Amino acid sequence: MERLNDVVYYYENYTPVGDIVVLATCLVFLILMKVAYNVRSKNYSLLQGMIVCLMAGAVGSIVYHMLTNYVGTVDSIYIYISRGTQHIAFFIYLYLYVFYVMEPLQLDYVTGRKYILVSTIGLIGFSLYDILGTVFRFGFYIDGKTIHSGFSFFFAIAYVFFVGIIAFLLLYYKGRMVKQILYAILGSFLISMTVMGVQGSHNQVSFTASCFLFPVITLLYMIHSNPYNIEIGAVNVTAFEDMITYINNKQKTMILMSLYMPEFEGTGKHYPKEVQELIRGFTHRFFKNAVLFQISSGRMILSVDPKKNPDYKLGADEMLEHFYAEYPRFHLDYKIVFMKTYDEISEKHDYIKMIMFLERKMDLNTVCIVGEKEVADFNKMNYVLSQIEDIKKQGNLNDPRVEVYCQPVLNIATGKYDTAEALMRMRLPDTGMVFPDVFIPIAEEHGCIHALSRIILFKTCIRIKKLMGQGYNVQRISVNFSVGELKDPGFCDDINGIINDVGIPHDKIAIEITESQNESEFMAVKNRIEELKGDGIKFYLDDFGTGYSNFERIMELPFDIIKFDRSLVIACGSDEKSEKMVTHLARMFSAMDYSVLYEGVETEQDEQKCIRMSARYLQGYKYSKPIPMEELSNWFEKSAS
Ligand code: C2E
Ligand code: CA
Ligand code: CA
Repeated sequence: MERLNDVVYYYENYTPVGDIVVLATCLVFLILMKVAYNVRSKNYSLLQGMIVCLMAGAVGSIVYHMLTNYVGTVDSIYIYISRGTQHIAFFIYLYLYVFYVMEPLQLDYVTGRKYILVSTIGLIGFSLYDILGTVFRFGFYIDGKTIHSGFSFFFAIAYVFFVGIIAFLLLYYKGRMVKQILYAILGSFLISMTVMGVQGSHNQVSFTASCFLFPVITLLYMIHSNPYNIEIGAVNVTAFEDMITYINNKQKTMILMSLYMPEFEGTGKHYPKEVQELIRGFTHRFFKNAVLFQISSGRMILSVDPKKNPDYKLGADEMLEHFYAEYPRFHLDYKIVFMKTYDEISEKHDYIKMIMFLERKMDLNTVCIVGEKEVADFNKMNYVLSQIEDIKKQGNLNDPRVEVYCQPVLNIATGKYDTAEALMRMRLPDTGMVFPDVFIPIAEEHGCIHALSRIILFKTCIRIKKLMGQGYNVQRISVNFSVGELKDPGFCDDINGIINDVGIPHDKIAIEITESQNESEFMAVKNRIEELKGDGIKFYLDDFGTGYSNFERIMELPFDIIKFDRSLVIACGSDEKSEKMVTHLARMFSAMDYSVLYEGVETEQDEQKCIRMSARYLQGYKYSKPIPMEELSNWFEKSAS
C-alpha cells in the first residue's frame, strides 16, 4: 500500500495544454515588448529574466511529463534534467521577483541585504535539496519503471517561502509603494495560489506554470505599460524621461528630432486627420525602430537608435525633404531641432529644456542642427541661471556680479552730457562678462529680473550721490525695468525705498520701459507711473518704433522722453518716405511736450539727420559706447559755481 502511494503515473493527471498556453502567452509578451514602447526601468531586465524562466519552466514541464510516459525505456538522466530545469527555473523566477519588488519599494542594498541573503539561501537550499534528493535517493528518483516522488509538498513549500518574502516586503514597506500596484501584485499571487489549490484538489499538475503568469502580467500592465496616443502613434513624456534614464545607464547614444508646432501648443487644438496620418508615417518610414514621444500638445520628439540606423543622416535628409514637400498643404508653422544625446545632458534630463531653449532663439519655420556650440550655449545658460538665482537668494544690493555700465547722452540744448542710461552687465566667475541679450530673457523667464534691477538702481543711486558730492552736474540717470516688474504691487515702495535709503532727489532717477503688450500690463504701468511721477521720478518710453505702437495708449501715459529706436534712424538713411514719417512723428511728440531721444547714433550723418528731426537728446556709439559707471565723471561737467 505504501509503495503504491509513492508511485505516480503522471500521464494520467497531466496534459501539456497549460504549459503550451504559458509558452504562447510568453511569446506574445516578448512580441509586445519588442514592438511596443515599454517603460525601461532598471527592473525591465528582471522582468525579461522572469519571462525567460517561465518559458524554461514550461518547456521543462512539457519535456518531463512527456518523458515520464517512457520511464524505463528512456535514460532517466533526461527526466532528471527536465524536472530539475522546471523546478529551478521557477525558483529563479520567484527569486527575481523578490529583487523586482525591492526597487519600487526603494530598498537600497543596505536595507535590502538581509532579504537578499534569505532569498539566496532559499534558492540555493531548495535547488540543492532537489538535486541531492535525486542523487542520494531521498527525494525524487527513478528505480526501473517506478517513479519515487519524494516529499510531495516540497515544491509548494519553496513556492510559499518566496511568496512569503514578497508579501512580507510589500506589507512591511507598504507606505513606499503606490497602493494600486501593491494590491495588484498581492492579488495576483493570491489568484495564483488559489488556482494551484484548485489544481491540487483535482489531483492535477498541468497548470503550475500558468500560475506564474499572473504576477508577470500584473507587472507588465501596472508598471511597464505605456499608453499610445492612437492619433499619432506617440508615447508620453514620462516614457521619454524613462528612455533618457535607460540610455544614460547603458551609455548609449540616440538621435533626437524634435518638431514644435506653436499652433497646437496649449491651444487645445487637435492635429488635423491628414497631419496625424503624416506623423504616424514619419515615425516608421525613414528609420528602423524609431519611437515617437509626445512631449506636450505642440511638441514631439522622435528618437532613433544610430546603431540600428547607421544611415540615419540620409534618413533625416529624406524625412526633411518629405516634410518640406508636405508643408505647402498645411502651412503650419514649425521649429525643428536635430541632435544627438550628450552624457551631461542625459544625466540631468535636460533635453526638453535644451530644445525649448534653442527654439526660443530660432526663427519660425527653420531647422536647427545641434552641435558643440549649441550645447555650450545651453550649458552657459544653465550656469548663468544658477548665478542669477543665487544673486536673488543672496539679496545683496552690492553684489559684485552685477555691474552697471553707462552710456552718456548728449543734451542738444546745452551741448553737454548731463544724463546717461544705466545698462546692466554680469561678471561671473566662470564666464567673465555676460551681456543683457543673454541674461535678461533668462532672468525674466525665471522671475529674477527684479532682483537684478534693484541692484542696478541701488548702485546707480550711489554713483549719482558720489558725482553730485564731487560737484558734477547730473540731471538724471535712467534705469531699465521690465514691464513685468511693474505689475508687482510692491514696486513703488521698493523703488522709493532704495532712492530714499541712498538719499538722493527722486528726479535724478528715470525709469525706462517699453510699450505694454496687453491691457493688464498697460494698467499696471499707468498706475505705477502716476504714483512715482508724484515723487519726481521721470519716465522714458524705450525702443519706440520696434513694435506696433498704439498712439492713443502712449498719449495716455505721461512719459517725459520718447526714445526712438535705432531702427528708425537706420530707416531714415535708406529712403525719403521713412525720413518724412519719422520727422512727423518726432514733431508730433515734441508738440505734445514729450522730448525725443534718438538711440544708436553712430555717424556724423545720423547726428545731422536726428537734429533735423526734432532731437532733444542723442545717444549712440558716435559719442560713447557703454562705459563702466566709474568713468562717467569723464563725461559729466562740474557745475559752474
Ligand atoms: P536698450 O535699452 O535699447 O539699450 C540700448 C542698447 O543699445 C545697449 O545694448 C547699447 O549698448 C546699445 N547701443 C548704444 N548705442 C548704440 C549704437 O550706436 N549702435 C548700436 N548698434 N547699438 C548701440 P546693451 O547694453 O547690450 O543692452 C541691450 C538691452 O538689454 C537694452 O536695450 C535693454 O533692453 C536691456 N537691458 C540692459 N540693461 C538692463 C537693465 O538693467 N534692466 C533691464 N530690464 N533691461 C536691461
Ligand atoms: Ca533702454
Ligand atoms: Ca532702447
